[in-house]
Amino acid sequence: MIDFHCHSTYSDGSDSVNKIFELALARGIRQLALTDHDTVAGVEELRRLCDDSSILCINGIEFSTRWKKHDIHIVGLHINPLHPEINNRIDLQQKCRLERAKDIADILENLGLSNCWIKVQKIAGHTHIARPHFAQLLVEEGWSATIQQAFSTYLSRGKPAYVVTNWMSIPEAIRDITASGGFAVLAHPLKYKLTHTKLCELIKHFKDNGGHALEVVSGDMQNKEVNELAELCEKYELYASSGSDYHGEKRSRVGLGAQRCIPEQCRPIWTLWEC
Ligand code: AMP
Ligand code: MN
Ligand code: MN
Ligand code: MN
Repeated sequence: MIDFHCHSTYSDGSDSVNKIFELALARGIRQLALTDHDTVAGVEELRRLCDDSSILCINGIEFSTRWKKHDIHIVGLHINPLHPEINNRIDLQQKCRLERAKDIADILENLGLSNCWIKVQKIAGHTHIARPHFAQLLVEEGWSATIQQAFSTYLSRGKPAYVVTNWMSIPEAIRDITASGGFAVLAHPLKYKLTHTKLCELIKHFKDNGGHALEVVSGDMQNKEVNELAELCEKYELYASSGSDYHGEKRSRVGLGAQRCIPEQCRPIWTLWEC
């Protein structure tokens, strides 16, 4: 069992790094990567915990990028979290994230949600605010019935509290990940709701700029979807990665390490560091 995509309280997950480690241990996960959004704050903590255990810790991050009008996520695996290029980039991304969060808070305040900025920071417990923190606030304040509804009414692209963010480009993400010794993975390729033609364009752009793998298995997926991505992996000569995208028990449909297996015809990404 492996999991190369999950989130802790350092971004928008609800489990501490320690809780994630305990879960991974209990489930017999062999290789684990914590991939918080635009931060490596929990990576050393997980590494220390894993050092004395049966779990191989793979240093990870999930970078937000901008491609055309889409927010595309690039997971970096096997990175060096102390590398200057990664850290400079994290600083820039954090600035974008903070600016965007203040803009979202302003919009919601104007719509009538008072003290939004203070309240959302309280929910996050830090200033590394992600949209799910706003979604939780909207639910707590009775503005939306569910997190999903908060997204579809306010926070998703085209909705009143969606703010275009000046994230880095895909080539920049791949360059920084690779510079630090890591491998770049195009995260959950079917989540962007692209047409097949557009998806192929995205994958080609990723591959042409040095990307290594597609996340063939991500969270809750149908067999048909996994097979579609496995075929795209073959077509574009990419490795295959797999992760639950676990955000904590209440926030995820798939538990840590409980996602499907990578199809046999794929080249698994771990062969890049196991050889
Ligand atoms: P951000 O990085 O701040 O743009 O937030 C992105 C995160 O929001 C994703 O990693 C998901 O955890 C969550 N998310 C995005 N879209 C939805 C949605 N439609 N419903 C629930 N959660 C979502
Ligand atoms: Mn998330
Ligand atoms: Mn993502
Ligand atoms: Mn994720």
